[in-house]
Amino acid sequence: MSKLSPRNITAHTRVAGVIGDPVAHSLSPAIHNAAYRALGLDWVYVGLPVPAGRGHEAIRALPALGIAGVNVTMPHKSDAADACDALTGDAAALGAVNTVVVRPDGSLLGDSTDGAGFLGSLSRLGVDPAAARILVLGAGGAARAIVLSLGRARARVMVAARREGAAAAAAELATGAEAHDWSDLATLVARCDVIVNATPIGMGGEPPPFDPALIGPRHVVVDTVYHPAETPLLAVARARGATAENGVGMLVGQAALAFTLLTGLDAPLEAMRRAVDPGVI
Ligand code: NAP
Repeated sequence: MSKLSPRNITAHTRVAGVIGDPVAHSLSPAIHNAAYRALGLDWVYVGLPVPAGRGHEAIRALPALGIAGVNVTMPHKSDAADACDALTGDAAALGAVNTVVVRPDGSLLGDSTDGAGFLGSLSRLGVDPAAARILVLGAGGAARAIVLSLGRARARVMVAARREGAAAAAAELATGAEAHDWSDLATLVARCDVIVNATPIGMGGEPPPFDPALIGPRHVVVDTVYHPAETPLLAVARARGATAENGVGMLVGQAALAFTLLTGLDAPLEAMRRAVDPGVI
């Protein structure tokens, strides 16, 4: 059992957490607890390992347990959407929830903060989505949240994925978005201003799935992967003069929005960002 520094957890302490399977690798407890410390809140945020198939049950139990709310990670995001009494527009459109808030009347509100977290990261890079052609690689949960938010921000979106049906379904989330075949990547990279990797490519050191010589200084490259801190895609983008950022911005951005939903307070962004392992940033 690991030893912790002493802290004043009492019967009054509010509890929040993250449910997932697995959940031990999650950075959310470090990020949220740093925010509570920064603001002197009597809150604690814990990992709640919930086995696949029991997400619905776990979420319905939150009000009875007096838990303030939870973040939700794989594989429970769609079960969480089913378990909530009400969904925000983003969560309803995605059929997925990453934040559940227990409201004062005990009902459950589900939201999805991944896409808005991503948009915040894009704006810190100086990108105006409404003026950009944005290529999204992948059509899974992260890609769908990103495409939805980009559509709301009036970006011109191109989605490329290895499964044609998944690319088409993701593209339907944004007005005017195009779905493309994975084999079209070279042409798409040449046409776009921003490249977003929303696949796990690079987590294991895999090279970009297109010729890196196609990347130039005019590109902004955002990798949703944050471990390793610099994927081969980011390394080559920087070497070729592009602006490049890993997934820490999106991770902290979605956590900040979840913090505000849960506590009603503005998030201490810098404290939350500093809580992420420097090896990851
Ligand atoms: P997901 O739902 O499983 O979707 C993964 C997507 O990547 C699918 O479209 C999948 O295609 C595609 N893919 C996987 N391996 C591929 C390969 N070798 N070549 C081409 N396409 C491939 O996963 P997710 O939740 O969207 O997560 C995707 C990545 O986003 C993760 O690696 C994670 O690091 C990152 N992420 C970051 C944050 C953040 O806050 N920074 C948040 C969420 C996710 P198929 O359907 O054909 O398999």
